[in-house]
Amino acid sequence: MKKKTDVVVVGGGLGGLAVAVMLARGGRKVTLLEKSRHLGGRAHTTEVEGYRFNLGPHALYLGGAAVRVLESLAVPMQGGCPRGEGSFALKNGHLHSMPAGAVSLLMTDLLGAAGKLEFGRVMTGLSRVDAERLEGRSLREWLDEHVTRAEVREVVAAFFRVSTYCADANALAADVAVAQFQLARKGVRYLDGGWSELVKALAGKAKEAGVEVVGSARVESVVREEGATQARVRGVQLADGTEYEAEAVVVTGAPRDVSALLPGDEVVAGWEAEVKPVKAASLEVGLSKLPRPRALFALGVDRPWYASVHSAWAKLAPEGGAMVHVAKYLGGGETEASEGELEGVLDVLQPGWREHVVTKRFLPGLTVMNALPTKSLERRPGPRVEHVRGLYVVGDWVGSEGLLADATLASAETVWRLLSTEAGARAA
Ligand SMILES: Cc1cc2nc3c(=O)[nH]c(=O)nc-3n(C[C@H](O)[C@H](O)[C@H](O)COP(=O)(O)OP(=O)(O)OC[C@H]3O[C@@H](n4cnc5c(N)ncnc54)[C@H](O)[C@@H]3O)c2cc1C
Repeated sequence: MKKKTDVVVVGGGLGGLAVAVMLARGGRKVTLLEKSRHLGGRAHTTEVEGYRFNLGPHALYLGGAAVRVLESLAVPMQGGCPRGEGSFALKNGHLHSMPAGAVSLLMTDLLGAAGKLEFGRVMTGLSRVDAERLEGRSLREWLDEHVTRAEVREVVAAFFRVSTYCADANALAADVAVAQFQLARKGVRYLDGGWSELVKALAGKAKEAGVEVVGSARVESVVREEGATQARVRGVQLADGTEYEAEAVVVTGAPRDVSALLPGDEVVAGWEAEVKPVKAASLEVGLSKLPRPRALFALGVDRPWYASVHSAWAKLAPEGGAMVHVAKYLGGGETEASEGELEGVLDVLQPGWREHVVTKRFLPGLTVMNALPTKSLERRPGPRVEHVRGLYVVGDWVGSEGLLADATLASAETVWRLLSTEAGARAA
């Protein structure tokens, strides 16, 4: 079967939905094809007995591109912002007050007197660092150069980990890490109802704007034709044989997904070969009550652990209950963690939690971000695929702005701008 549209969007995660809405509002006929039965991709939320689990711990960075783009689309983002209350550093299996401000730094037994002085100096200085000037260095090199004491270095590294999701300081680019650290200091928000609320709102806006959304539609290839100087897209072909003819195709998902649609394309295969995904293990627990209501957050210092009671700030659990995310940032070639290891973290933060479990889910190796940024973001591919006219990519590994969902939505916005400019130029 052959169909015709202006733009095909492959994938119905946040990036695909956002770009589809923007283009359709600009007057384009847009068809969005999603291989799963449900929309959302990694922004999926599962509900069990009133507990709402995101796919691992998710937070919107308040000063980031995701918030900017979602605001521009009038997508509601209700929820709460953690302010550091009930926070601990976890080291050698013990909780210590988190040095989050001047008073907690003075009080904590995490660092000695000289360590506290150095920690205070490094953290204050970090907000003033010009991240761009660190290009070409790894985070490890920056830490070794700027932090003398090993006990301080591991605490500072833990703050970088929670800001970037990356446990691999040897590989992570220092300029990217520092910029993301500075962004994270502006605060984050956990969303009432979970990230599927964003998906629901975007899907509603897609419908209003006239986007044709097709579920269970796996795209098998991008159809190209060779021009005199350059290849150009003609559309896509689905696994069931349906063909969509279009003047532009926007592909979302991982580099591997893009490369699967363009067999024989060496440039795209090169992107896939080059990237190293950022992975995490996740344990999500719905409790009927919190054994220690004042212990809300723990950040591993000697191990790459994270635990947070997201329901303390956002509506994610029934009245009186609690929804807790525990995660391990995977690095150094590790692709999975064991459930017992993550349960051990909760044993320290919330002893006795096992007696109150209503529901629980363990996911050993999630892909948080498709590419660990080892170089400045300007060197990431796309969003325009230069060697195939009419082809664009959107995702958390694309374009020159942001990490995680910020990169996805910034690249979606850039594609909308590029396609709008081209349409404007043609009309003129
Ligand atoms: C554990 C975890 C924690 C995270 N925490 C945060 C956080 O705190 N803050 C933050 O900003 N981000 C976070 N993220 C990242 C965020 O979830 C993603 O960056 C964002 O959801 C990616 O959206 P996307 O549209 O680019 O890709 P995806 O969500 O991966 O969507 C791609 C879609 O394309 C579809 N697709 C692929 N190939 C095809 C095909 N051939 N045909 C049809 N459909 C196809 C897929 O089914 C999928 O639905 C986290 C992710 C994880 C896993």
